[in-house]
Amino acid sequence: MSYYSPSIEKLIEAFEKLPSIGHKTAARLAFHILNSSDEDTKEFVDSIINAKKNLKYCSKCFNITDTDPCPICQNTSRNQDTICVVEDVRDVVAMEKTHEFKGLYHVLHGSISPMNGIGPDDIKIKELLSRLMEGNIKEVILATNPRVEGEATAMYLSKLIKPLGIKVTRIAHGIPVGGDLEYTDEVTLSKALEGRREL
Ligand SMILES: [Zn+2]
Repeated sequence: MSYYSPSIEKLIEAFEKLPSIGHKTAARLAFHILNSSDEDTKEFVDSIINAKKNLKYCSKCFNITDTDPCPICQNTSRNQDTICVVEDVRDVVAMEKTHEFKGLYHVLHGSISPMNGIGPDDIKIKELLSRLMEGNIKEVILATNPRVEGEATAMYLSKLIKPLGIKVTRIAHGIPVGGDLEYTDEVTLSKALEGRREL
């Protein structure tokens, strides 16, 4: 049973649905909102609605963007013949933070995971291949996470891409096995990129 009014209870429940928010934190956030000015509350709500409304995927690389193509794909000073393949939008951010990679990206939006029923058709592999078919790409860097699924995805992609005559490299294992690109520090990630090996 709850000691709060139904509307407060509902707000707490909404916060509890967010990742890594427990009941106590949810209650603290809910009361923070209740004590905020109407103006601050409106700004907060609008920022969520706008982010959701403006959210789209770049039609080339499938990064999240406000404009299509995304600023990275539009940037002609970037190396147009190298594509770094990552699993998640947050991995693009991690790579960009290293300031080492100046090419283009392709976001798969997941990895092949038969255990979870995710096959090659469920992630953006077809889209990657059609980009490669256009013929301008000389190297594909596979920067999927060094977990079982990420490795399996890298192997699968390498088998598909190599016959196209494109150099396929895999980032080095400076990244701890089982780790996440997103949480890897910039130095380790730069080194992993630098030490990539050809598949
Ligand atoms: Zn893009």
